[in-house]
Amino acid sequence: MWKRLKEFILRDVVDENEIKMYAVILRMTLSVMLLYYGITLGNAVVMARLAEGVGAASGIALCIWLFWLTYHNRTRLAVSLFNLSFMFLMLAHAHMFGTQTSVFHFVYIQIVLLYVLDYLSLKWKVIWAVMAVFFRMVVYEYVSNTDTMYRITEGECVLWQGVHLFTASTLLVFIVTAATQDFREMQDKLVTYNRKLKNIASVDPLTGLRNRRSAMEYLQEEVERYSGGEFSALTIAIGDIDFFKRINDTYGHNYGDLVLKTLADLFKHFMKGKGRAARWGGEEFLFIFHNINGDDAVEMLAELRRTIRHTDFRLGADVVRLTMTFGVSEYDLRKAAEETIDDADQKLYRGKKSGRDRIIY
Ligand code: GH3
Ligand code: MG
Ligand code: MG
Repeated sequence: MWKRLKEFILRDVVDENEIKMYAVILRMTLSVMLLYYGITLGNAVVMARLAEGVGAASGIALCIWLFWLTYHNRTRLAVSLFNLSFMFLMLAHAHMFGTQTSVFHFVYIQIVLLYVLDYLSLKWKVIWAVMAVFFRMVVYEYVSNTDTMYRITEGECVLWQGVHLFTASTLLVFIVTAATQDFREMQDKLVTYNRKLKNIASVDPLTGLRNRRSAMEYLQEEVERYSGGEFSALTIAIGDIDFFKRINDTYGHNYGDLVLKTLADLFKHFMKGKGRAARWGGEEFLFIFHNINGDDAVEMLAELRRTIRHTDFRLGADVVRLTMTFGVSEYDLRKAAEETIDDADQKLYRGKKSGRDRIIY
């Protein structure tokens, strides 16, 4: 029952140009008002008061019609009529029972609705809000100077005050919750979207490693932390696959991609607890060793080099083996990060020149 009611209120508007939140807020408010008019109708029957009964019945009919409008892409019209209906309600109620029953609380609901349902420009919102307050004063003045239609006991007056206080507070809570809920959802969406964008901009789609840009960012952060004395060594290495072009030429580009992916997974695993691996370029990879000096990095890379040499890259019946060459350079506070990369790059080049499958430090 509760679930169905929720579905009924939250059901999406048909037209894309209609704002769902507005329809939902209006439906929630209308539900509360239906309850209010229902209570009024019950009261009218118990007290045998015709005008009150007719008023309450009209209120119920109006709410149902406005409900119907929100399901037929006429939310905007429904909002305007609903706002106007509060004026009639206040006028009629005050005319019947006087000004002591707190019916004027509905002015605040009107103003809040005016601001939350964003159909009007700020100028018109202010104008309408001023008019609503002015209208309330006029009604108050008018009713104070004329006899009310019905004379009610003090007890009933207190009862009315309670009903109005309860109705108005419930409406306020509903409206503000719905309005801020949407805002929060929007913020959450933005945060997720931002995260996705950042991920797209910093991760290499083939290997899932950081791309060059993101690797540089990470390196700059590491350099800053290192300079601040947070740790005591920083080493970088560039590794390049030997004769990778041959693999592409022999087995095809797709297989080459698969090899890159497999290696990248190997690097990720290898760098756990040591720092970060990144895809530096086509078949070149950058390794940033956190708090590890050049000598230790060389030892670790020697282990990695052995692992690569003994890894079988399978394609059907074929087994492909490959090797890599590395250039290693320890970061030195007197140098820029880029100089360290250049140094490693030159060493890599030297390694290639002198026969590949080696580590130059
Ligand atoms: P060397 O030992 O001198 O490094 O020889 P190499 O063949 O590895 O070097 P070269 O620079 O001549 O060729 C690199 C090849 O890497 C050429 C290019 O097609 C390939 N490559 C670069 N990026 C990708 C990629 O994303 N996927 C695949 N399959 N191949 C790539
Ligand atoms: Mg190569
Ligand atoms: Mg290369």
